[in-house]
Amino acid sequence: MYDAIVVGARCGGSPTAMLLARHGYRVLLVDQATFPSDTVSTHFIWPPGLACLKQWGLMERVLASNSPAFRTIGLDLGDYVLTGDMPPTDGVAEMSAPRRIVLDKLLRDAALEAGAEIRESTTVTGLNFADHRVTGIRCRGRSGTEFTEQARIVMRLSRELCRQSLRAWHLWLGFALPAAPGPQRLSHPDCRGFSH
Ligand SMILES: Cc1cc2nc3c(=O)[nH]c(=O)nc-3n(C[C@H](O)[C@H](O)[C@H](O)COP(=O)(O)OP(=O)(O)OC[C@H]3O[C@@H](n4cnc5c(N)ncnc54)[C@H](O)[C@@H]3O)c2cc1C
Repeated sequence: MYDAIVVGARCGGSPTAMLLARHGYRVLLVDQATFPSDTVSTHFIWPPGLACLKQWGLMERVLASNSPAFRTIGLDLGDYVLTGDMPPTDGVAEMSAPRRIVLDKLLRDAALEAGAEIRESTTVTGLNFADHRVTGIRCRGRSGTEFTEQARIVMRLSRELCRQSLRAWHLWLGFALPAAPGPQRLSHPDCRGFSH
């Protein structure tokens, strides 16, 4: 039995697993990909994202991955170019642009270092329920073997969530809501700035 299962081991899931593991929780991180693994994205990290990486002790690793920090950005509209600096977040005004194939593995490695367990090449195919609560996941592993894992909470960290209903969100999070409320914004000071 895990305290938390995190589905998706990229820039959303790996820091979530890392922070939970650093707080002493038993965490399982699951991804159908095998790392290093690329994904469709540009690579821009704004100052709030670098401030998170600094707070987590990972900023220097990112910068050392041949992804230098820079302060000034420009928008080239052809006839004229807008340039400027960004306001700092927690004293960090720099930006960086690591490739996802580098960043995601670095974050996944940090989750492992923090004590999270990881299953790669493992697809979550469904959820297990008891008394209207999510109690775990059903998975298909590398060899095609089906298995289950239990946890107090299951989280899915994936941009595909945007296309899912809020009710599905809550099911993945481990709550079975009688009716979906209006859209909610979830935030935590540990988790700013990784997405647009
Ligand atoms: C074209 C494009 C450009 C972008 N540019 C930027 C940018 O410059 N800067 C920025 O901050 N953001 C950018 N974004 C947004 C950014 O890519 C997303 O916000 C970010 O990837 C979300 O990270 P995530 O870890 O939550 O999810 P994802 O990157 O979507 O990763 C989800 C992971 O979950 C795994 N997964 C999903 N379902 C399952 C399952 N059932 N079982 C097992 N594993 C599963 C997938 O294999 C995947 O590895 C861009 C997005 C796009 C599409």
